[in-house]
Amino acid sequence: LQRNPGETEFHQAVLEVLDSLGPVVRKHPAYGDARVIARLCEPERQIIFRVPWVDDKGRIEIFRGFRVEFNSALGPYKGGLRFHPSVLLGTVKFLGFEQIFKNALTGLPIGGAKGGSDFDPKDRSDMEIMRFCQSFMTELYRHIGEYTDVPAGDIGVGGREIGYLFGQYKRITNRYESAVLTGKGIGWGGSQVRREATGYGTAVFVEEMLRTKGGSFDGEKVVVSGSGNVAIYAMEKVHQLGGTVVACSDSSGYVYDERGIDVELLKDVKEVRRARISQYAEERGARFVAGGSIWDVPCRVALPCATQNELDGAGALALVRNGCVAVGEGANMPTTPEAVQVFREAGVLFAPGKAANAGGVATSALEMQQNASRDSWSFEHTEGRLEEIMRGIHERCAATADEYDVPGNYVLGANAAAFVQVAEAMLAQGVI
Ligand code: NDP
Repeated sequence: LQRNPGETEFHQAVLEVLDSLGPVVRKHPAYGDARVIARLCEPERQIIFRVPWVDDKGRIEIFRGFRVEFNSALGPYKGGLRFHPSVLLGTVKFLGFEQIFKNALTGLPIGGAKGGSDFDPKDRSDMEIMRFCQSFMTELYRHIGEYTDVPAGDIGVGGREIGYLFGQYKRITNRYESAVLTGKGIGWGGSQVRREATGYGTAVFVEEMLRTKGGSFDGEKVVVSGSGNVAIYAMEKVHQLGGTVVACSDSSGYVYDERGIDVELLKDVKEVRRARISQYAEERGARFVAGGSIWDVPCRVALPCATQNELDGAGALALVRNGCVAVGEGANMPTTPEAVQVFREAGVLFAPGKAANAGGVATSALEMQQNASRDSWSFEHTEGRLEEIMRGIHERCAATADEYDVPGNYVLGANAAAFVQVAEAMLAQGVI
């Protein structure tokens, strides 16, 4: 904590993992001798850079760019880029740290990293987004590559931004290196299902979790926070599985829709017109609650899919009071430690993000596979692979929780299973 002052989100992420590792280190004393935990908590490389560019009014603007290459024991660094005004070094470090374990759980050969900028893409023109992305890549290009570090999207970085970033990388390097970025367009090296993968995967994981108690999404009311990439496709899959999503949100408030969210209309509002959720409510004739807590809406299953620490102790108590039986994190660390404690005490099934939302990065690794073999798979085949991976992660977390005598504790299951895999690779590769 003293070496990384002020990085509160990073501290929170590390403490959450360390909380699970006591029994693991007792079982494997070699990890302690090799100081695996101390090494894991120190990123292999951290890059901070200036991103200067000229806006539509001809003004020079300066933002800060980050890439934290955290751990490459299992493969090239892999993790998204976030463009949001709240991004600080500690934010990127928390996300990069989580990414190490998430990527390990996929069973695919990818290390952990994260990056981004404090740039806010909201209300910027297409040309401003393009110029910003070009300036960002003008520094980032020297640190990334198919065999080094493969960024992708995250909050504020979707298909449009990946396109501009890829274009600039290609222009600077004079290489059509498809697998240097994932989340590309389908016509130029992207993978089917990548856009849907994180949300779909979260719903599939939670369905598996519900099944352990004889339940499923079928016929259940569900609340999904956020209305971005992860939230939209989590809603779509919940509806395919027979559930009804009655509320979703953005940072201005939430919409309540007893008939179920109309996902096609929501996609048009958010993805095509880039408008706000209040616009959806108006067009759909649904109720918009400005600034309210979405967790007050009664549901059986809650999927926080917006951002870190959005579901606090009070939100968790409201969910439990209203009969919620399962929570699955589509976002990264959306649930505060107090809220996790509330769910544990109430016996609510809880799927941590590093397991439940790993479908996005897993499909990114499938995109890299397709790029490496100059191939492109069908939607059905890719979705089949994604579902197989998500069921595998669920099985691995559940089995590891059983192994440590805490059945149903997916937090410990995910942390322990991922940690052992990374630690074994680090031991084999020596003190580096
Ligand atoms: P998007 O930018 O597509 O959507 C983010 C959503 O969350 C928007 O509805 C946004 O509302 C809301 N939001 C963002 N920041 C805040 C905030 N500070 N307070 C309240 N609401 C906020 O991002 P994604 O859907 O891609 O990402 C959502 C979460 O999922 C993040 O935690 C991300 O790290 C995680 N994740 C994403 C993956 C992916 O494949 N995209 C993979 C794995 C995890 P508004 O528009 O009002 O800001």
